[in-house]
Formats: sequence, C-alpha cells, structure tokens
Amino acid sequence: QVRVRFAPSPTGYLHVGGARTALFNYLYARSKGGKFILRIEDTDLERSTKESEEAVLRDLSWLGLAWDEGPGVGGDYGPYRQSERNDLYKQYAEKLLQCGQVYRCFCSNEELEQMKEIAKEKQLPPVYTGKWAAATDEEVQEELAKGTPCTYRFRVPKEGSLKINDLIRGEVSWNLDTLGDFVVMRSNGQPVYNFCVTVDDATMAITHVIRAEEHLPNTLRQALIYKALGFPMPSFAHVSLILAPDRSKLSKRHGATSVGQFREMGYLPQAIVNYLALLGWSDGTNAEFFTLEQMVEKFSIDRVNKSGAIFDSVKLRWMNGQHLKALPTDELLKSIGEQWRSAGILNESEGLFIEDSFKLLEGGIDVITDAEKLLSDLLSYPFHATLSSSEGREILEDGLPAVAESLLAAYDSGELLGALEEGKPGWQKWVKAFGKSLKRKGKSLFMPLRVLLTGKLHGPDMGESIVLIYRAGTSGIVTPQVG
Ligand code: GLU
Repeated sequence: QVRVRFAPSPTGYLHVGGARTALFNYLYARSKGGKFILRIEDTDLERSTKESEEAVLRDLSWLGLAWDEGPGVGGDYGPYRQSERNDLYKQYAEKLLQCGQVYRCFCSNEELEQMKEIAKEKQLPPVYTGKWAAATDEEVQEELAKGTPCTYRFRVPKEGSLKINDLIRGEVSWNLDTLGDFVVMRSNGQPVYNFCVTVDDATMAITHVIRAEEHLPNTLRQALIYKALGFPMPSFAHVSLILAPDRSKLSKRHGATSVGQFREMGYLPQAIVNYLALLGWSDGTNAEFFTLEQMVEKFSIDRVNKSGAIFDSVKLRWMNGQHLKALPTDELLKSIGEQWRSAGILNESEGLFIEDSFKLLEGGIDVITDAEKLLSDLLSYPFHATLSSSEGREILEDGLPAVAESLLAAYDSGELLGALEEGKPGWQKWVKAFGKSLKRKGKSLFMPLRVLLTGKLHGPDMGESIVLIYRAGTSGIVTPQVG
C-alpha cells in the first residue's frame, strides 16, 4: 500500500510551496488508494512553536487536504511529532552502533575546527578525517571512563557512488568520496535532522517521499542511513521550486505567499489547490479548471514537471473568479453576505438584499472581497441623506437647477420616496411623469438625475440602483456610508 507523508517544520506559516508539496502528496495517496500521513518535524525546539503547528494544521484542513494519520487523528505508526519520538531515534542509533555502521567520535570542537583549517589549506573539502573510525575498543573505553563527550558518526563508504531514480528528476547520483563521516547523534544525545527523518520514514513505512527540490542534498545521507538500517528504500520525488515572476526564489517581498494570507483576502480553498496543482502539473490537455476530486482522478506523478514553476498572482486571482462562478448561487450569496457583514457594510443577514445587490454587481468579481468594494461604491452616495442635508441641497440647487428644483420638490412632497417604496415599477412610473412635466427625456433627463441621485456619471441600471440604495438607506440593514 502506498504511504506518503507531508512533514512540515512548525517554524512559521504554511507557504504556497509547502501547500503544493502537501497537495501532491495528498493527490498521490488518494489516486493510489494509499495513505496520506502528516508528521510534525519539531526537532528544532528553539524555532518550533505550538502556534505555528496549529496554524499549519488549520490551513491544511481549510485547503481540504485531510490526513489519514497524524496529529489529531492518530494512527498505528505514531507518535506523529518528532519531539515525541526521541526514544526511537536513540534505539536506532544504538542499533547502528552495535553493528558498526556508526562509531563514537571523541573529537573536541577545537579539533574539528583544526581539521577544517588544514583541509582548507590543502584545498580539500572540509570533511571529517575519520580520526575515530578505526579506534580500538580500549581507546574508546578509556575516553568513556574519562567521561569525554562523544558524537555518533556514520561510517560512509570511502569510494563509489550512490544513485536514486527520482520519479520527477530521473537518475540522480552522488560520489561518496567527498561526503565524510557525518554526525547522526550529537554529544548531548540529540539526534540530527537527517537521522530523524530517515528513522521516521522507515518506521512509518513510507513508500514514496515527495518533497521540495531543496531537500535533494539530504537524500544522499538519508539513503545511506536507510541502507544501514536495513529498511527497504522508498521512492523519491523532488518537486521543483516555486519561483517569483523574475525567476528568483519566491519570498515575502513578492507579496502574499502564505495560505493564511490568501484566506484572509477572501480566496477560496478550492481555487488555491487548483492553482497550486498547475504549478508543475497538468493532466496532459489544456484543461485548467479542476476540483480536488477531479485532480485525484487525473493525477499522475509522471506528469509533474521538473523545471521551476512561476507563481503568478494575477492568474491565481483569475482562477479564483472561475471557482466563484462555479459555486452554487446560494453558497456564493452566503459567502458574500458573510463578507459584507464582516466588512461592516451589512448589519444583519438580509437574503433578498444580498441577492438583488449581487445580481446588480455580477461580472466584476474574482475574489469575494471585490464584492465589498463594488457594493460600497454603489452605496457610497446615500441620496436621501444628501437631499435632506443643507450642504447637499446647496450643491444641488446651484449645480443642476432645472432638474434639481423639481427633484427637491418631489423629495420634499414625499412623491419620490412614495414611488420608490413601490420598487422599480414605481420608479419607472414616476420618472416618466417627472420627465414629461420638465419636457425632458433620455439623456437630458437621466444624466442630471443620475448625478443628483447617485453622485456618479455612470453606473449600473439606474432604476435598480436607486431602488437598492433607497432600500439600503431606509431598512437599517446597512450601515450608512459617509456621503
Ligand atoms: N521538515 C522539512 C521541511 O519543512 C521537510 C522534510 C522532508 O519532507 O523530508 O521542509
């Protein structure tokens, strides 16, 4: 059975790169009927935080990438946090010591520094010389009796090479002669990162390691440890970096890069996973719109590209618009209503108002938060507040006298509001009679009216806007905008 894992270090937020790695793992597991495991790599106690772990779990859940084993859900291969697996690492380090794959090294820091200096002078790679590799049992016992601190070093073959068949990058090979015997356990008993990852992947029966390209150098050490432990080697797939439009490494200075930021900006999780999948993967056609289920159906690791993918926030925005359009109307209206309420425009839920407003605004929305701007633009000129304020009256009386005078009269007499009370038909009837009495029609009637009533020269259908603005202002369902 296929078993893959996503192994975030909880030292910050979930970034788009990490989210894509998680997604590819998820898609691989689901498409193969396998298991998707979540492991928290919190060995770096100084940089790991509980808040970060919680944020990562929350963001993964929000994206819909449910894990089968891991924090919160348990599983047969736990615990799923490295900080809770120390005994296991010690146990395997001792095992490797017993069989001679690792040995004790009593070199002091000064000695190691000296080795580096000498190597530098001789223009050799700064590798450990193997000083304790061939120590006798007596020499080791003597140091132990003295209480000299020691690290555990891995015995790396002095020649030959190691190669893997990466599922994305093809054959990758390394020469072993420049590696040097590396530390697997520090003198304070703390296992090093590469050792933990290998023990975890091996004991969690991981079959495929799908992770970012930047981990490729770790794979060499991990593969050696795998062999030494006698576990079957998993398959590896190293996914290329996500790049900024200028092809540099994507970072904060390029704008939003964390999943949480996109959530706060009103993006839909299904649009984010769809977009991230396309950063490196395609189904072999030009199709771009996929639900998570459709991606599971189509996913194949062979179709993951080995060249770097460029993160294009404009395209992500567009993609979000596509997913918004695909939402069932009631779901869309619900999200828009929530958005308007949290932005403080709507005071309470008013289904019909949201529906009518949205109909009027339709077309211009790629991200839910766009609706907020469109609606506040629409409502930003509360005409009855203007028409009843002395300041507003002054401007209007001077500005567009011919129409303004009659409009004010119609407002004061209650005629206009009475008509609006009857909705769009009321407005239509009123405006027709109003034009007749002024001997104006078409542009010469509607332009001054639009300016007077909406404060704008252009906008959506006049009658519908006016009726909506009237309802907004009188029903108490919206917070009056400053006009
Ligand atoms: N903990 C590593 C990271 O956050 C991932 C290690 C791995 O996937 O092997 O980048």
